[in-house]
Amino acid sequence: MQVFYTGAEWATIRSNFHAENLSIGLVPTMGALHEGHLDLVAQCVKASTISVVSIFVNPIQFNNPEDFEKYPSSLQEDLELLEKAGVDYVFVPEVKTMYPQETKLRFDFGSVERILEGAFRPGHFNGVGIIVSKLFNIIQPDLAFFGQKDLQQVAVIKRLVQDLSFPIELKIVPTRRETDGLALSSRNRRLSPEDRKKCLILYESMILAQKELFEGKKWLEVQGEISQNFKHCEGVELEYFELVEPDQFELLNEFDPNQKVSICVAAYVGPVRLIDNLPLNA
Ligand code: AMP
Repeated sequence: MQVFYTGAEWATIRSNFHAENLSIGLVPTMGALHEGHLDLVAQCVKASTISVVSIFVNPIQFNNPEDFEKYPSSLQEDLELLEKAGVDYVFVPEVKTMYPQETKLRFDFGSVERILEGAFRPGHFNGVGIIVSKLFNIIQPDLAFFGQKDLQQVAVIKRLVQDLSFPIELKIVPTRRETDGLALSSRNRRLSPEDRKKCLILYESMILAQKELFEGKKWLEVQGEISQNFKHCEGVELEYFELVEPDQFELLNEFDPNQKVSICVAAYVGPVRLIDNLPLNA
């Protein structure tokens, strides 16, 4: 496995690949790797001739400076995990390499970014659009792997690839969870043992909502009940609990078991903001 730090280094490495039908796979990450990331990595290693993982905590996608400052980092461990996973190359750029000057370009993904994460984290999807475009242009992968855990991000990146004609096939990987249901996230490392227990309300609420919807209860009733449950959970603050159509990313007021729908949730558990989602009829 080789670590590189700049686009110029990658251009040199790339120029040595001569095989025909060679495919380059990219897994963009912000590091502090866990088994969820490693699922993407395993799929990338399997599906591509050359696998590349990027590790870069992208400052411009954080709307909250404290979230950025406290974002966990464990580069040495990450590199060991990637080596074990059989990764070929790891791109670890510095901020000044990715942003030699302030980026003036602004992405507007339309209605997708006016709701949920877009509404609660202004500027977040612009930051995601900029960094993913830069990584796509620098690495020029044939395949790129993203997690369903960030469902709205997936919708945004699909638009990015379509609207800018990136010749890249997107592969979306299901969410990896702890045995009790908590979705793996780098931010989980910041949870106190007490908050770790409280987190379960996110997953359990989605499972409860799913059950009630399939029993015929109306969505708005279910949503109201879940909001009440969150209010009774001290130290947990619900931001949203919504039903969405995951491709266009539109909010739904009614559940139709024949339509593709997901529940999306975001909540602060203590100081840590967590998001999760559950496809109801995947
Ligand atoms: P991040 O480092 O949080 O930016 O995540 C890098 C990639 O890993 C993104 O495509 C995420 O959606 C994906 N990812 C994060 N957590 C999980 C998880 N629990 N299961 C599957 N993929 C995940």
